[in-house]
Amino acid sequence: MSATSGRGLDHDGAAEVDVNTAIIRQLNVSRVFHALREHPGSSQRELAALTGLDRATLSVVVGQLEAQTLLDRRPRPRRGRAGRPEEALYLSPAGGWFVGVRLDPRELHVVATTVDARPVAVRTVPGSSDVEDAVGHVGSVVRELAEAHGVGLERVRGVGVGVAGLMGREGHLALGPNLGWHDVPILELLRQELAVPVYVDNDTKATALAETLFGSCKNVMDFVLVIAHAGIGGALYQGGMLQRGWHGYAGELGHVKVVEGGRRCGCGGQGCLEAYASEPAVLQRLAERGRPCADLTEVAALAQDGDAAAVEVLEDAADKLGRVLATVVNLTNPQRVVVGGGFARAAAVTLPALERALDRDVLAPTRADVEVGVSALGQEEVAMGGVALAMEGFLSLPSWLSTGHFRQRRHGAPLAS
Ligand SMILES: [Zn+2]
Repeated sequence: MSATSGRGLDHDGAAEVDVNTAIIRQLNVSRVFHALREHPGSSQRELAALTGLDRATLSVVVGQLEAQTLLDRRPRPRRGRAGRPEEALYLSPAGGWFVGVRLDPRELHVVATTVDARPVAVRTVPGSSDVEDAVGHVGSVVRELAEAHGVGLERVRGVGVGVAGLMGREGHLALGPNLGWHDVPILELLRQELAVPVYVDNDTKATALAETLFGSCKNVMDFVLVIAHAGIGGALYQGGMLQRGWHGYAGELGHVKVVEGGRRCGCGGQGCLEAYASEPAVLQRLAERGRPCADLTEVAALAQDGDAAAVEVLEDAADKLGRVLATVVNLTNPQRVVVGGGFARAAAVTLPALERALDRDVLAPTRADVEVGVSALGQEEVAMGGVALAMEGFLSLPSWLSTGHFRQRRHGAPLAS
């Protein structure tokens, strides 16, 4: 159902106008928020130029952000302009937190940031394969972090959680092969656990959103992101839109078959990319060759020292990934291919092998301009994906916008049903 028809036309079409107005105001707030995040210290005049909003609208939006303690004004030294000195506007460090979480069977990674996504606290705790334990851990870590930093829970503007698995559109986890979970109402469980707004998505799709907001794909409309952690996830943006597929399960590159009748995968199948190139798969393959390693950083160091087994296993993983990505690149013609997780940790070996596979398997004109690189989000890319989910979720909430600016009757129903 479209957003405009979500409220029903109960008052000779007036409700539809209200919803449209609410959406436009929401978009305006989002534009100003992101402009300030990317251009801190801008004046209202500069913000008007950055956002294309007229000065009257901009003043209202700035007032809304200020009323929510999200915005600070500071005097700015004159730069030779006559007239009143301009004020520099910033997203306020006192504006509260966004919290991002990577829910992984082995570890829980939590990053708390200011509202402009600057990390202020990072915590890693053991994971759990029990869904209630895992959800409980998320709640305790968020509460502990907030308390330790003197940030009241009411100042946590949103918690975003990236989950490895097939995530449906309503926050329902259909299958998490590496978590051993299926059919879990994960969003509902998290919302019961945490008394703050919570958002969930597939871990790689969340990370892709973060790449568009504060990573390597800020102005890139067409890209594919692939991350290797416990499993391998993919996300595809085309024309600036994340491709989710019918149920929301699109992007499962890890379960493309790369070896007929090959290694057993966590999904129950055989020969999946994930069974050769995920972090546990790479560690397992090296252990079988007498090179037990604790993590991919260790494997990368071994490879750097010229260890033949480490180089071979990493190159084979990257080659198999490359073969799968070549199909995606031929199909979708992206501008950029971004790799994260274990592939990024061992980029010195994996990127050249990946590039060679693309050279071999992608049609020349399509291959010519594809940029291949590592995620700009660092080791905590998935948790930063959670921050991105929380930020976008917060900016899409109609409730806080309404303070003092919307009439009460606009709160009656959600924007879309
Ligand atoms: Zn599989």
